[in-house]
Amino acid sequence: MDFTRSQNLNESRQAADIAGFTPSPASGNLLLQQPVTEARAIGGRRAELFLRLGVKTNEDLLNLLPRDYVQFQGHVDVSRLAAGQKATVEGCIIQTRMIRRKRSRFEALLEEATGRCILVWFNRWDLPDKITPGCRLRATGTVSFFNGRPQMMQPQFECLPDTPGPRAVAAIEPVYPATADLPSGTIRQIVLANLPDLLADVSEWFGADALASKRLLSRRAAYEAAHRPQSLAEAQLARHTLAYHEFFIYQLAVALRRAAQRNKAGACPLRADDLVDRRIRALLDFSLTDAQNRVVKSLRSDLAAAVPMNRLIQGDVGCGKTVVALYAMLLAVASGRQAALLAPTELLAEQHFLTLKRYLAASRVGVGLLTAGVSAADRKRTLSDAADGSMGILVGTHALLREELHLKHLALLVVDEQHKFGVQQRAVIRDRYVSVHMLIMTATPIPRTLAMTLFGDLDVSTIDQSPPGRGKIVTRTVPTVNRDDVYTFARKMIAQGRQVYVVAPAIDDNVGGMQNAVELAAELSAGPLKDCRIALLHGRIDRDERMKTMEDFRGGRIDALVSTTVIEVGVDVPNACLMVVEHADHFGLAQLHQLRGRIGRGGNQSYCILVSDQQTEEAARRMAAMVRHSSGFKIAEEDLKLRGMGELIGTQQSGHGDIAFTDLLFDPYLLPAARAHAMELAGRDPHLIQPAHMHIRRELLNRFARTLSLADVG
Ligand code: ADP
Ligand code: MG
Repeated sequence: MDFTRSQNLNESRQAADIAGFTPSPASGNLLLQQPVTEARAIGGRRAELFLRLGVKTNEDLLNLLPRDYVQFQGHVDVSRLAAGQKATVEGCIIQTRMIRRKRSRFEALLEEATGRCILVWFNRWDLPDKITPGCRLRATGTVSFFNGRPQMMQPQFECLPDTPGPRAVAAIEPVYPATADLPSGTIRQIVLANLPDLLADVSEWFGADALASKRLLSRRAAYEAAHRPQSLAEAQLARHTLAYHEFFIYQLAVALRRAAQRNKAGACPLRADDLVDRRIRALLDFSLTDAQNRVVKSLRSDLAAAVPMNRLIQGDVGCGKTVVALYAMLLAVASGRQAALLAPTELLAEQHFLTLKRYLAASRVGVGLLTAGVSAADRKRTLSDAADGSMGILVGTHALLREELHLKHLALLVVDEQHKFGVQQRAVIRDRYVSVHMLIMTATPIPRTLAMTLFGDLDVSTIDQSPPGRGKIVTRTVPTVNRDDVYTFARKMIAQGRQVYVVAPAIDDNVGGMQNAVELAAELSAGPLKDCRIALLHGRIDRDERMKTMEDFRGGRIDALVSTTVIEVGVDVPNACLMVVEHADHFGLAQLHQLRGRIGRGGNQSYCILVSDQQTEEAARRMAAMVRHSSGFKIAEEDLKLRGMGELIGTQQSGHGDIAFTDLLFDPYLLPAARAHAMELAGRDPHLIQPAHMHIRRELLNRFARTLSLADVG
């Protein structure tokens, strides 16, 4: 790798420091915080275009990193060009012409010693002035052949001095995440025009020794090299450096928050002895898997402590997280305390409520349900039972949190399907229930090290095993033209006594001509599934009917359940073996995997059929991922690559940085190293009061004081 330049930069900076001339950092990133409209070459309309890319401040502009780099190759003889090759040619323009049609086409014929090559550009009215017969040009692009002659469409080009000199040094051009109105080249010009000012305001977090030992550039050198690299290796090192800093600051925020939390509050230690353990297990008509037992063991030791538990249980759909949560909740009840279980949707809360009641049928533990759909009378009773402590377990939606819920003896809060909300929301809950044990469950599992890092404020347990006797799931995509075959197949499954889910993207509107659940149910009962028992389920159906429908489906009195994604999580009917998703390309990966998780719960082979005409490349990648991977870990990884980590960790960090570094999340060394570094610093200087940490402290407060209520760090 090429470290020379960085050393020069670091050295020159040190020299400047020694001379007593330190460019602005001590003044507090003033320039970086300013709106980007203050930057050079960004006026009203351009500012709007930048806003669309998420660039609001100067700092955002600095963080608008190239998504790729193109290296101008040393040039190739025209006679040796091959189709599909990316190449650079150099020669003399001998002829040009402009063809005006709906879009203009400008052609230039380039000639050099070994042959001729046609260069073509569209909608470039400016080119006839720049590229004229007689001028020398260097062009880089992908080669194709037309009538046996090589050509390049839309090549990048440079005009050269008239006489051929020595071969130019390879130059590297950054490729920015452009939009149609804001091409990469324009972004580049604007970034470069502002770069010197912005760099002067970038703060350094680590000393020269630390950077050298970690083989990183300084932040300033990294930003410079990312936007204006001199080699691909340097660009790579720059990304690596910036990612390290980003990961570091996030980890540090989480570590400090965690330490602050630890010191704040004691929790009620729960009873977790063997007698209680035996009683709980006796309620189950199966034994726990090894993976479940491992998690239970951690829970028992966490909950017996006087420090609030902060644990994440991650495991693929259907691996049996609910039972484990039930175990924890019963420890609370056994200690004469209460537990609450929160779910993201009403349907899921209702399903959890019914499931818990079934598990607890043989016990005296009181379970209550509290959602927006519950009648006023029931609600009043539930709240009063909850308030006086006679109800052991309360199930509700996240909205429960916002209400004035008074659980007199609340000791444990279980939050299901955490993938719906992130660090920030977690911080809100934590701040409200400071001394309550917290258990979070997610079915969007990610590799353990990554989870530890992204959810650094939590201890992570993974259930990596399914209960025995589960059938396999086959996943296929089917184009819309062949949908009839899908329902013929569904009919066959129903004839064999199996049950079927059919999911549509909307309840009853027809945005973009899409199927909706109401029409779909009508269509299916009129035609393909004529003699079958079909029911409709969506979020606007009232609670009693919804619960009845689910009980009928569970009881086998309904063959096909047509619904929206309300059934995405929590529904558990082992006899259902077919999941049909209409317009599957309109769903996200995590969502599709959740939907698929509704089947394969019994011993029979199950089928997930994604009806979709992939309109975009991204949709095609999602469908391919579903077909290829059955593991939630793999799906989550793909999802992360497609969407970036900002969404997963739910902070409001700059949107570009995180997308730009998504691939580096999977680097086996980078994240763990940044995390270890952050932990080490948090241990050594928990209030960041040492002068050397001043810049880190300010950066941390700037970014996280509000979102993670870190104000008390300082
Ligand atoms: P998750 O919430 O992880 O998606 P659930 O807790 O809903 O999964 O469990 C899925 C199904 O597996 C439920 O019907 C549950 O009763 C069953 N189950 C859970 N653990 C076991 C086990 N150890 N052995 C057999 N069945 C189990
Ligand atoms: Mg679940």
